[in-house]
Amino acid sequence: MSTIAIIGAGIGGLTAAALLQRRGHDVHVYEQAKQFARVGAGIQQSANAMRVLRAIGLEERLRSIAFQPASWNNREWDTGTVKYELPLGEVFEQRYGAPYLLLHRGDLHAALFSAVDPARVHLDMQLTGLESLPDGVNLRFANGHECRADAVIGADGVHSLIREWMLGREEPRFTGRVAYRTTFKASLLGGYAIDDCTKWWGPDRHIVIYYITPNRDEVYFVTSLPEPEWRNESWSARGDLGQLRAAFAGFHPQVQAVLEACPEVYKWALYERDPLPQWSKGRVALLGDACHPMVPYMAQGAATAIEDAAVLARCLDEAGEAAIPRAFQRFEATRKARASEIQLTSHRNQWMSKPTAADWVYGYDAWTMPLADVA
Ligand SMILES: Cc1cc2nc3c(=O)[nH]c(=O)nc-3n(C[C@H](O)[C@H](O)[C@H](O)COP(=O)(O)OP(=O)(O)OC[C@H]3O[C@@H](n4cnc5c(N)ncnc54)[C@H](O)[C@@H]3O)c2cc1C
Repeated sequence: MSTIAIIGAGIGGLTAAALLQRRGHDVHVYEQAKQFARVGAGIQQSANAMRVLRAIGLEERLRSIAFQPASWNNREWDTGTVKYELPLGEVFEQRYGAPYLLLHRGDLHAALFSAVDPARVHLDMQLTGLESLPDGVNLRFANGHECRADAVIGADGVHSLIREWMLGREEPRFTGRVAYRTTFKASLLGGYAIDDCTKWWGPDRHIVIYYITPNRDEVYFVTSLPEPEWRNESWSARGDLGQLRAAFAGFHPQVQAVLEACPEVYKWALYERDPLPQWSKGRVALLGDACHPMVPYMAQGAATAIEDAAVLARCLDEAGEAAIPRAFQRFEATRKARASEIQLTSHRNQWMSKPTAADWVYGYDAWTMPLADVA
């Protein structure tokens, strides 16, 4: 089996590592962070992602720590009039054969980490350069470490160095919008009742609020707010609560109550790219946000990265060691149209604002989807 280096231990990189290790590949993951932190963020995992996580053996663990709401509600920002309510819970599960879960992003990451060999996840390893040769790829890291692999998967996120190596330097596009987000104890609401899971749609801004634990004791919210001057992208940058509350003045009392109750908030500039012309080159392939970063308005960025990992594993299954470039081309040819469609649909930010045909997103099965033919 081939030696595979995965750059980035985010959600996409760890999913790929877990799947490839189970298939017998010699996988090493290189991550620039010195440690992992459980930063305040929630994440939605729909059936298309859950079918992949099921194959890694994580379904029961995730069900036990996640919240499974009865519906995903969409309401007008001020009156609270329901625009569209997507049934989740058992109705969703019967339709798609897997659940729709809401959980802490750190808990999902920890579950994925538990599914890989920890001795093969190398922290404090920032990739600084690579050289692709006909029979392998040489990698160089900021700390002086060098190594060689048969294949490299660039799961290094929206600012991917490997994307830059493949396609040249081009900054992702700042959308002029900022996501404020945090998780906090539901007890801080002082008994005030809020919906289980709702997106509140304002004229030029929105906020999504949901519980992330089975017993509803932890709440999460994430906004999208115009703030063209602020471009910082850091999981730990603090936001100003007064400014945030003022930005949502006039929103429904539930929104006000949540923003009043939350003790701190983080902010994250939202970047995106247009679909890339190329996802792979020789023995190097991109995966997840590295090749299809998107605004989070469909809650599908991580789910799409997870789907990528499953299809990539299938393509590598069918290739011998000599055929890695072909496997990567096949991966790209199988995945690009779908990922691009999700990127563009997210960009429009109308998903679920009215009755929405969702089967093409949630019904996708990365395990049975036919792999594309490549010459
Ligand atoms: C506000 C917000 C809310 C979201 N909500 C959802 C949701 O509900 N559901 C959903 O599915 N998705 C959601 N997403 C999208 C999701 O977070 C991303 O799409 C997902 O994290 C992408 O995973 P990834 O593994 O491709 O990249 P990342 O998670 O960004 O991981 C990349 C990793 O690579 C490492 N790295 C980068 N450069 C190097 C280097 N040179 N050397 C070594 N390591 C490197 C980074 O440190 C990082 O750990 C949301 C995103 C945002 C911003």
